[in-house]
Amino acid sequence: MQTAGIIIVRGIVQGVGFRPFVFSKAIEFGINGTVTNFGSEVEIRASGARFSDFLREVSHGPPMSRIDTVEVRPLTGNIRTGFFIEPSREGFLSGMIPPDIATCEACIHDIDQEGSRYEGYWATSCVNCGPRYSIIRKLPYDRERTSMVAFPMCPACEEEYADPHSRRHHAQTIACRECGPGLRLLDPDGNEVRTTNPVMESASLLDQGHILAIRGIGGFHLVCTERSSGELKRRLGRTEQPLAIMVRPDILDQIVRVTQDDKEMLNGPERPIAVMAKRDPSSHLEISNLHTLGCMLPYTGLHHLLFHYLKNPLLIMTSANMPGYPMVTDIDQAMAKMNRDVDYFLTHDRLIINRCDDSVVRDEHIIRLSRGIAPKRTKIDLGKRTILGVGPELNSNATIYKDGFTVTSPHVGNVRNPQTFSYLQETIENLGRLLGAEYDVIAHDAHPQFLSTRFAHRLAKETGAELVAVQHHRAHIAATTIKPCIGIAIDGVGYGDDGTVWGGEIFAGQVPDYERIGHLEVVPMPGGDLATRFPERMLYGILPEDGVLDLLATRGWTDIELGVLTKQLGRKVNVSYTSSTGRVLDAVSALLGLCRERTYDGEPAMKLESAACLGTPTPWDLEFITTGGAEVLSTRALCREAFRQLNRISVDDEKRGIYDIAASFQYNLARGIATIATNAAGERGLRDIALSGGVAINSAIRNTIKDEIVKSGCNYVVNREYPLGDGCISFGQCVSAAMVKRPS
Ligand SMILES: [Zn+2]
Ligand SMILES: [Zn+2]
Repeated sequence: MQTAGIIIVRGIVQGVGFRPFVFSKAIEFGINGTVTNFGSEVEIRASGARFSDFLREVSHGPPMSRIDTVEVRPLTGNIRTGFFIEPSREGFLSGMIPPDIATCEACIHDIDQEGSRYEGYWATSCVNCGPRYSIIRKLPYDRERTSMVAFPMCPACEEEYADPHSRRHHAQTIACRECGPGLRLLDPDGNEVRTTNPVMESASLLDQGHILAIRGIGGFHLVCTERSSGELKRRLGRTEQPLAIMVRPDILDQIVRVTQDDKEMLNGPERPIAVMAKRDPSSHLEISNLHTLGCMLPYTGLHHLLFHYLKNPLLIMTSANMPGYPMVTDIDQAMAKMNRDVDYFLTHDRLIINRCDDSVVRDEHIIRLSRGIAPKRTKIDLGKRTILGVGPELNSNATIYKDGFTVTSPHVGNVRNPQTFSYLQETIENLGRLLGAEYDVIAHDAHPQFLSTRFAHRLAKETGAELVAVQHHRAHIAATTIKPCIGIAIDGVGYGDDGTVWGGEIFAGQVPDYERIGHLEVVPMPGGDLATRFPERMLYGILPEDGVLDLLATRGWTDIELGVLTKQLGRKVNVSYTSSTGRVLDAVSALLGLCRERTYDGEPAMKLESAACLGTPTPWDLEFITTGGAEVLSTRALCREAFRQLNRISVDDEKRGIYDIAASFQYNLARGIATIATNAAGERGLRDIALSGGVAINSAIRNTIKDEIVKSGCNYVVNREYPLGDGCISFGQCVSAAMVKRPS
């Protein structure tokens, strides 16, 4: 029987309390030896009669760890008596550190406990909880390579750090009021507000109706009570956009319908924002004028303390950056940007090395992959080459594949502006350094003008890596399944093979060879991007009829404006063409008067969905056209039917009529898309039908497609581990690029 060996453990084994865990097992089984962080791995030198029991226990790891492999090598030489945690050494980078972890119950107890060393201390943490990704610079994971390096431990923390019986034995983030990061409350001019308890003072200011910027784990939030939410929206100039809220756990059930899955995520170590249906759709309209509310529960010691002092049970808590821009992380930057919008700043002095937005989930799907979930690590065999996927342009992130695993970064944003673009580069640099990645292949979007595409070209030139362009919607399907399938990608916009704007696509094949076998009708977008901002333009592009012009005239369009619009379309000047699902939903939202100007990403379609969930759908006739070998669903016919019904609505019950049209439109559009897919599956003998794309976030559309697929006897395939929207693209780019056959 083996009584000694060198055990190498790989995976997410640092930042999860692995060394103290091994230490406690060694004591339990009477093992002599050492444990050390070695590169991104953990190396254990062990000797003792109960070595095999020890090995078995160690192979399970502590709760937050994810073990890929455990390797045992022969041990030579002598081992001194006792068990020791030895200093880390640089070495091979095969693993990853975990995402930031919500403050655990035991630490919250310490914060609440009268007389405890941690009583009222905002940054209390232990081996099982606290920031990780957001504070790390380099592996191996030790305090000196994190932003905790600025806070030398006090004697009491040192003692606890060295105590094998403590939950903070070798906890790299250990800190207390004496030695750890502190809080300061500042006015907009940067003057410190005199107070002995900045959190209690902040709670009182919030209760009084003030708007605060609060520096959290991954960046700044804007925070206020519900009463001030209207004021906050006015100051930000974002009057329509729904705001996320943080609620006291005991009132969550009263305001939204919480599913079991939501409950688990909301209370788990991830603690994302969960988008849930309001109990009463007409409640909390100042926060969200949709039928849903995005809610999260307190996830740091600071949040717990705030709610301890607050009279209000819920707080608006929205990222302080402009939508699509990077989180603001630094106090000077925050003051420069926000001193007009914010009454006070509550800040701490721990550096945020990797910024991180809040993650968003809805109906068991990830909408935004970020804090608590990312860096997201997935076991998948994509071969020996190291691959970088730089992502698309909107809702972007990056993915690196190395040695059997992909690692996807947190949400980066819209890589259209220079700030977000440099944040993308910074993210790729940091992630690449943590993984020790040197790229053989760089995958990018097919759009030649994207900043991310140009960056990929530049990086490939510098490194000699091979470049692979991956069409946007094929990346969606590649992110969903690697098996042969019919793939449905329903989306906003993406660059198509023919240079037009795609977004309602049906493919057949296997990654990377997907043939486009169906799509939504190609319709003009008069004014190009203007048609995205003003969806009534899109409506006229789809239905260029006098009736539509009359409708627009009643809504205040002048004769001159209408003249320009008709001429633009007639002469095809500044008109692009699209099969986008999002743009069709926008047009109907405009037709029904639900949204006439898009002020945030997805607004018209989200308002359509909110109206539709109050209506009852009825089946309409579907029209299909065959062009160029592809089956095309006529969205013109669907819009014409919606328009016809709108003109027949009874005046007494106008609202109900609109809700019903909205519901029917979504239902029939989804049914039409599913019909093309299920027919194609039958013809080609394929069983799996994959669904992806931002429009699939719409529950009614997704569920109709799912029902039709199941009814046809096929398998409905979605990837719940990655966002349905563009947050899956960088992962799909890696998968697709790996499968491209190389000339031998
Ligand atoms: Zn803890
Ligand atoms: Zn201390």
